[in-house]
Amino acid sequence: MLVVLTGGTGGAKLVHGLSLEVAAKELVIICNTGDDFVCHGLRVCPDLDTITYTLAGLGDAARGWGIQDDSFVALEWLGKYGGESWFKLGDRDLALHITRTRLLAEAVPLSGITERIRGALGVQATILPMSDDRVETRIVTMEGELSFQEYFVKRHWADEVKKVFFAGAERSRPAPGVLDAIRTAEAVILCPSNPITSIGPILAVPGIREALTKTKSPVAAVSPIIAGAPVSGPAHKLMAGAGFEVSALGVAKAYADFLDKIMIAPEDRALEENIEALGLQALAAPIRMDSLEDKRRVARDVLASLRYM
Ligand code: GDP
Repeated sequence: MLVVLTGGTGGAKLVHGLSLEVAAKELVIICNTGDDFVCHGLRVCPDLDTITYTLAGLGDAARGWGIQDDSFVALEWLGKYGGESWFKLGDRDLALHITRTRLLAEAVPLSGITERIRGALGVQATILPMSDDRVETRIVTMEGELSFQEYFVKRHWADEVKKVFFAGAERSRPAPGVLDAIRTAEAVILCPSNPITSIGPILAVPGIREALTKTKSPVAAVSPIIAGAPVSGPAHKLMAGAGFEVSALGVAKAYADFLDKIMIAPEDRALEENIEALGLQALAAPIRMDSLEDKRRVARDVLASLRYM
């Protein structure tokens, strides 16, 4: 069994590659839910949904979110009634958020809902939310405290980040199956996801970081930072705000207590020595994933480093 920890954008690229290189039944994907929020009264789980749509072959890879060729008629009409339209919800996508909101109201836990949706869309891999409890990533800026989606989508990550915290994390429990999956995995992969707001919330759920430290299986990460900058999004601002240097070395430091290996870009070879001084192995190989072939190649490289073939 291969356990994968992921957010939505960079994570989905590697998850896509892995899904083409590993039998679906062997894949257990543990997904960030710190970005979840309520929009038009509906519970939206952006990372879970991106991963589910990606594995179902429905995802819009170019945009990085939503369903391919979706239409936005309902959103336009919501706007007519004064509803906010900065968060784009497609018509087909809305059906998922309506279903999830209804099932939550019927007291079905998020993990159970995720399982039902996975089945309905024909996804074979296991997808687990990090927790069934609400954990909310909060971004503290000069203008005040924002939810992740307000910071990221509404305000285009323009604000200076003073601090990031995960409201509700201390009282949260890992979703059923999460700790067992990590304990019994043959290998664990941390996707090239934002270390602060995608992997950070997962690690903040009590017990998960400890399970990663204790697991006997090898744990590898792929760096989301190449040559001192993220491939997309605000990881540089969030890492700097959280006191990490913006580099593959900074990523390695964020995970050093449980990580065995990290894949870094060839242009970051100069960091190898400092990464290895942390007690982990640095593997330099191309990790930018623009095409489907890139995604498969990075997946094969990380699997080979873990001897998971
Ligand atoms: P989010 O939930 O949308 O923030 O998704 P993630 O956290 O999974 O993805 C964001 C991270 O993916 C950013 O830090 C990017 O630098 C990283 N990323 C995006 N595309 C690539 C890529 O092609 N290669 C690598 N190595 N990282 C990438």
